[in-house]
Amino acid sequence: MRGFVDRKSPTGRSLGHLLRLVAVLAFAGTLDGAVLAQQDRWAEPRAAMVRTIQAHAASLPEAASTDGISTAVLEVIGKVPRHEFVPEQVERQAYADAPLPIGYGQTISQPFIVALMAHLIEASPDSTVLEIGTGSGYQAAVLSPLVKTVCTIEIIPELGETAARRLEDLGYDNVHTKIGDGYFGWPECGPFDGILVTAAAGHVPPPLVKQLKPGGRMVIPVGSVFGPQFLVLVEKASGGQITTRQLLPVRFVPLTRESQ
Ligand code: SAH
Repeated sequence: MRGFVDRKSPTGRSLGHLLRLVAVLAFAGTLDGAVLAQQDRWAEPRAAMVRTIQAHAASLPEAASTDGISTAVLEVIGKVPRHEFVPEQVERQAYADAPLPIGYGQTISQPFIVALMAHLIEASPDSTVLEIGTGSGYQAAVLSPLVKTVCTIEIIPELGETAARRLEDLGYDNVHTKIGDGYFGWPECGPFDGILVTAAAGHVPPPLVKQLKPGGRMVIPVGSVFGPQFLVLVEKASGGQITTRQLLPVRFVPLTRESQ
């Protein structure tokens, strides 16, 4: 009995505690290691994706006339965890330079196009930008560290809500999300230094042109669902004049309308 009491003496208990603490720390160490290994697993595929984007940008047609993708955009692309934005079934392809299905008949855009669009609006740390077509939230996540504020609209509530939660969980806290028809823009969030439309429209929506600041830039795929589509750069000069330029052929899902 005394022995039993002795084993529960303060010294005995602190030894037990110490052993348990060591066990817990060792377990936590294993967990940390597992999390790190998990992150490392994507580091090389992500770096390879950045190299592919650079190579792709170098082979752009003359009309697209960019001197490669800006370093700031490439750095962000090299950090955003694209695997967090795709369904589990396609996670293994997360860093392929290809669009992937995200459900509801929609796709997360090809990384090269995401980088190119982010580059073309020439965003700066004090910019406010609008994205039409939140989808997975990936393009918004890429824009987030490059600008002051991102406003993004998605017409499919389930996609918009999932993306909003994901962006919040991952800490992209300068991204504002909204469910609705992006054709009409988001005047309360603007005016905008840059607008990115990530679904193909039959024409450039006039409300978006209106919400673009003088000196602002919009990139938008224009064309029909089955016919040719072109990525178009719309520029509003400081005096308000609009110029448009077709950059390169692209393939996007269609911009749908609320009444459809
Ligand atoms: N930027 C997205 C790619 C999304 S694909 C990403 O990074 O994952 C295009 C998205 O535009 C789809 O989710 C589609 O539902 C949405 N969309 C289509 N028409 C729309 C509209 N009128 N307003 C807002 N979103 C629209």
